[in-house]
Amino acid sequence: MSDTIERVKCLIIGSGPAGYTAAIYAARANMKPVLYQGTQPGGQLTTTNEVENFPGYPDGITGPEMMIELQKQAERFETDVRDGWVTKVDFSGDIHKVWVNDTKEIHCDTVIISTGASAKYLGLDSEQKYLKLGGGVSACAVCDGFFYRNQEVVIVGAGDSACEEAHYLSKLCKKVTMLVRRDEFRASKIMAERVKKTPNIEILYNTETEEVLGDGQVVTGVRVFNNKTNEKHEIPATGFFVAIGHKPNTDIFKDYLDMDETGYIINVPGTSKTNVEGVFVSGDAADHVYRQAITAAGTGCMAALDAERWLAAKDADFEVATSTYN
Ligand code: NDP
Repeated sequence: MSDTIERVKCLIIGSGPAGYTAAIYAARANMKPVLYQGTQPGGQLTTTNEVENFPGYPDGITGPEMMIELQKQAERFETDVRDGWVTKVDFSGDIHKVWVNDTKEIHCDTVIISTGASAKYLGLDSEQKYLKLGGGVSACAVCDGFFYRNQEVVIVGAGDSACEEAHYLSKLCKKVTMLVRRDEFRASKIMAERVKKTPNIEILYNTETEEVLGDGQVVTGVRVFNNKTNEKHEIPATGFFVAIGHKPNTDIFKDYLDMDETGYIINVPGTSKTNVEGVFVSGDAADHVYRQAITAAGTGCMAALDAERWLAAKDADFEVATSTYN
């Protein structure tokens, strides 16, 4: 083995609530975890303003602050938190090989994948501007809807997520305008019907976003166009929600792990185990349903416990095998 190859008992990939929670549990179990933060240290929560639904913060906390707290807690128990992006893996043997930044090679007894998912956005400059300002663009109605109580909002998308989020927003907001780019929904019939029957949701078909309007600080409206007639008009709104899907950050694992057609890793039900022994998954990389910080943290805990038990069983097997041999 070359000097440049490092051996690690528990490698955690990703630094959202799942990764840091896995780190806290693994560190306290003396697994000496090494955690690579990835390209977006802190994960999706760093693009969220106020987090009010994570138990234990009665006054709320901003997403970035919460991630700093989680990192500190993981480091308090001596998690080795590192900058770096895992670019390649090889899970074909007993020792799991991982490459960081295409160069550094690490050999791991266990790997916990907490790489999360990324919300898709339209990519308009105006959308990105108000997203970065925290001024009214969001990809999570459950996280941010509360801030738009009794206000008017716009939501883009026509899948099950968009329907679920539009319905959620309709209970909080005065009016929800839903922009559907085709003349029909992609969502299941039952979800689409529920939205259609909600009085304060207006659905605009064949309608796309041209620009998110604002005063330089916060969103004030949306200019849309009908893609059949090219007619344009402006919709007053203080919130612009994007619900056009998520992409799990799992591309580098696809040669080894079972995934669904979108790329979500398939875990053994009720556990964090993947189809590869010693490789565990937590958080949004395996969850297209709940996608909450608290559920990610919960599965991070599961992954660390599963990894620890897996290692303990392996060590016990090794001891039995060695004593039999002796
Ligand atoms: P989907 O991929 O199912 O839907 C994405 C929607 O966004 C589509 O309507 C698509 O339009 C639209 N869209 C994509 N890009 C753009 C764009 N640039 N401009 C405007 N609209 C755009 O994603 P979901 O997140 O809704 O769902 C993902 C999976 O999770 C699905 O399998 C879904 O069934 C499941 N799910 C299940 C839930 C439940 O059962 N409770 C809840 C939420 C999700 P178009 O149709 O024209 O392509």
